[in-house]
Amino acid sequence: MKRKGQLFVISAPSGAGKTTLCNMLLAEFKNISYSISYTTRAPRAKEVHGKDYYFIDILEFEAMILKGGFIEYAKVHGNLYGTSKAAVFKSLELGRDILLDIDVQGAMRIKQETGIGVYVFVNPPSIEVLRERLQKRNDTAGENIDLRLKNAEIELTRFMHYDYIVENNILERAYRQLSAIYIAETCKCALLDMKDE
Ligand code: 5GP
Repeated sequence: MKRKGQLFVISAPSGAGKTTLCNMLLAEFKNISYSISYTTRAPRAKEVHGKDYYFIDILEFEAMILKGGFIEYAKVHGNLYGTSKAAVFKSLELGRDILLDIDVQGAMRIKQETGIGVYVFVNPPSIEVLRERLQKRNDTAGENIDLRLKNAEIELTRFMHYDYIVENNILERAYRQLSAIYIAETCKCALLDMKDE
């Protein structure tokens, strides 16, 4: 039986371990791809254009907004980030699942505007742990850790708008929860493409 792709949206404050969890999911399951966002943020040391992000300037970003190229976009920690509308819908039509690692503003916009998707919030153990992780991360030099922590406090109050919450105290347990959500949500009858039967 053919089925439509499922849209997975994952949000978490910076340093909550969301990227690690996303990479584990992408490594285990082959029918899900990562939605590569567009951003005006400068690339970090190991980031690759076209893999981690499409790094573009503000004028290019504004041109994409004008031609309706984003399913959502938002200013996050002082930089612009946006999700390609064409990439998301093409993937879903082809029956491939797609994973969006985006902030709370973007997640809520997609939820309101499309009415589809599975929304997962990754909860960090505490703000202190976030601070420690952000300070230890040596790829964010020059980025504003205090601003990221201030935004984290706001984001942590928004989890009730999501379908699932994954507590990331112990990575293995958090990943078991995330993969269980993925497996269950991709078995939903509502995703079946009945017109082909
Ligand atoms: P970072 O700069 O650490 O890669 O990402 C900062 C924040 O921007 C993270 O919370 C990440 O989920 C979010 N983000 C990444 N891509 C997008 C996007 O396309 N749209 C929105 N709204 N947020 C994004």
